[in-house]
Amino acid sequence: MNVSATPSVKASPDLVDPFGRAVTYVRVSVTDRCDFRCVYCMSEEMQFLPKRDLLSLEELDRLCSAFVARGTRKLRITGGEPLVRRDIMTLFRRLSRHLETGALTELTLTTNGSLLSRYAGELVDCGVKRINVSIDTLDPIKFREITRRGDLSVVLAGLDAAQNAGLSVKINAVALKGVNEAEVFDLVKFAHGRGMDMTFIEVMPLGEVERERFDQYWPLSEVRDKLAEQFTLAPTDYSTGGPARYYTAAETGGRIGFITPLTHNFCESCNRVRVTCTGTLYMCLGQEDAADLRAPLRAAPTDEALHEAIEAAIRRKPRGHDFIIDRDTRQPAVARHMSVTGG
Ligand code: SAM
Ligand code: SF4
Repeated sequence: MNVSATPSVKASPDLVDPFGRAVTYVRVSVTDRCDFRCVYCMSEEMQFLPKRDLLSLEELDRLCSAFVARGTRKLRITGGEPLVRRDIMTLFRRLSRHLETGALTELTLTTNGSLLSRYAGELVDCGVKRINVSIDTLDPIKFREITRRGDLSVVLAGLDAAQNAGLSVKINAVALKGVNEAEVFDLVKFAHGRGMDMTFIEVMPLGEVERERFDQYWPLSEVRDKLAEQFTLAPTDYSTGGPARYYTAAETGGRIGFITPLTHNFCESCNRVRVTCTGTLYMCLGQEDAADLRAPLRAAPTDEALHEAIEAAIRRKPRGHDFIIDRDTRQPAVARHMSVTGG
């Protein structure tokens, strides 16, 4: 199949998996590197991939454009920390052409915020409208402990820059038992006070990290019960196309999202796939099966083989994952770190 690298609007997506789910949302990790070392995400001494293994920015553009040609409507750039990748704005600028044609409805990113002061304006120029910023605590000392090297004041300055540039921001926090338990109210008030949605994420068993998963795991059902002590929560059918389920808090009028891969099976409506910075396509965050897209990308300057590899992979997208965290399960369900697959 020959599909041009600058696709036009697709009437209906043609990447449909065996369970009838159309794949319209691709998350692409552009680097496994990061300026932080969050305790649940990375080990203290991470071994990063050799640079030659990474897709070039041109290859990332070809790969994303191939998905757009097949009906992908939303692209999320992630990592590692996407903004530490050298010349990353070149990729955003190239991908923005798909927003201009209308083929893509959203180009967005997930970031730790450390470089937003530098890049917020350029992101807006490239058509980015909404971003996710990860902040697990508003306590500067705890922030340093969780991220091992982050500076909260720099991230907060980045948030200011993003909002001043006109970006709509959602805050993501991983719910960590014994770490940010007491802070959930403050996080919600902080986010809603600035007109931002607040989403909590359950810690997922990805990659070996120093602490036992079970020690970090705090089910979001308990987080929601705790929030209900101060907020009147009403379910909404609001969706950003991602896996979060949203509630509104009557007291603030703001939205609170919950991403619950462990306590709630969110697989039925999964419209997503992930691509790593080395061009490996994961059809499910919680399964090992993957397809190599780098080889077909590098094999030829045209995209036929790439499209064939993508089609074959989508034909084997699994029904769902089966993460387990309990006292008897000491091994991660999936050996790769979140920073490799891309959050
Ligand atoms: N560096 C960027 C950031 O922190 O937002 C983007 C990549 S990060 C891997 C994406 C998201 O995954 C972050 O919100 C992070 O908190 C979350 N994350 C990382 N490891 C996780 C894990 N084991 N379980 C749940 N969420 C995790
Ligand atoms: Fe870096 Fe994001 Fe992982 Fe933290 S969660 S170590 S900021 S990639």
